[in-house]
Amino acid sequence: MMTKVQPKLILHGGAGSSLQSKGGIDAVRQSLQKAIAQVYNLLTDGVSAKEAVVQGCRILEDDPIFNAGTGSVLQSDGQIRMSAGFMDGTRQSFSGVINVSRIQHPIDLAQKLQQERDRVLSDYGAQELAREQQLPVYDPSTEKRLQEWLQDRKGAFQRSMADVVAESAGRGTIGVVAFDENGNLAAGTSTGGKGFERVGRVSDSAMPAGNYANSEAAVSCTGIGEDIIDECLAARIAIRVSDGWSLPEAFGRSFAEAESRQRDLGAIGIDQNGHIAWGKTSDVILAGFHNGDRMGDCLEAASGTVVDRII
Ligand code: ASP
Repeated sequence: MMTKVQPKLILHGGAGSSLQSKGGIDAVRQSLQKAIAQVYNLLTDGVSAKEAVVQGCRILEDDPIFNAGTGSVLQSDGQIRMSAGFMDGTRQSFSGVINVSRIQHPIDLAQKLQQERDRVLSDYGAQELAREQQLPVYDPSTEKRLQEWLQDRKGAFQRSMADVVAESAGRGTIGVVAFDENGNLAAGTSTGGKGFERVGRVSDSAMPAGNYANSEAAVSCTGIGEDIIDECLAARIAIRVSDGWSLPEAFGRSFAEAESRQRDLGAIGIDQNGHIAWGKTSDVILAGFHNGDRMGDCLEAASGTVVDRII
C-alpha cells in the first residue's frame, strides 16, 4: 500500500497595490480562512488534489470580494466575460475556458474539458458547452462592480481601457494549488479579467502561463495577464522544478527575472515534496495556506521588492 503524505494547500484571491478596494485586510483574511478551512478538510478526508482545487475555486468564485465568478469585473463594453484554467499535475493535462458569460462557476467547465478531445474553448464554444451541460443561466454581476464601471465611464474611460488595473476596478483572480495525501498535485485559476479590457482580450488564467501543473510542481498566477504571459510564469516555475531545481530556487530565480523586467504579478505553488511557496513583484498578494500544522497568510508580507517565501 502506498504511504500517505500530509496534504498541503495554498490559494489566492489576486495581487495588487493595496487591500483597500477589497474592504481591508480583515475582510480578505476572513474570506481566505473560510475557504482554506473548507478545502483543507476535504484534503484530510482523502479527497484528491483535483477535486480540492475545483471545490476551492468554486468557493472563491462564489465570494463577491474576489474578481472571479460572482463579483467579476466588467469589461470595456460593460459585459462580464470570465476565464478559468485547470491542470491535473499527475496527467500533466491542461483544460480551460476563455471569456465565458452567464454561468456561476467557470472552473466547472474547465474541469469538464479534462475528459474531452478539445480541451480549451473560447466564448462561443464555451457557451455551447455550458448549454450542453445544462448549467443554469446565472448573472455573476454585483452592484459594486457595476458602480465601479459606471464611475469610470463617467470619466469617459480616461484611463486606457486595456490598461485599467487600478484598485477601483480591482484586478483580482482566484487560484488554488493542492497536494493530496497520495502526493498528487493540481492547480486551478479563475478570473473576471483585468476589468475594462477590450472585448476579446484573453487572460493568462486560461493559459499554461497563468496556471500549470506537472507531477513535480503546480503553480497558479495572478497580476497583469500580459506580464504573466511574457514571463510564461506558471510553466516556467514548474518546468524548472521538473529540471531539478528546488521550489525555492525556481521561485527565486523566476521572480528575480520578472522583477528585472518590471513585471507586476504574483504566484503560488507546491512541489512534489509538499513544499509551499509564493512570490510577488506587486505590493500585495492575497494568498493563504495550510501546511498541515497551521493556517497562515501572506497579506502582510513586505511590499515593494521581490519576495519569495517557502513555507
Ligand atoms: N491575471 C488576470 C488577468 O490579467 C488578472 C489578475 O490576476 O488580477 O486576466
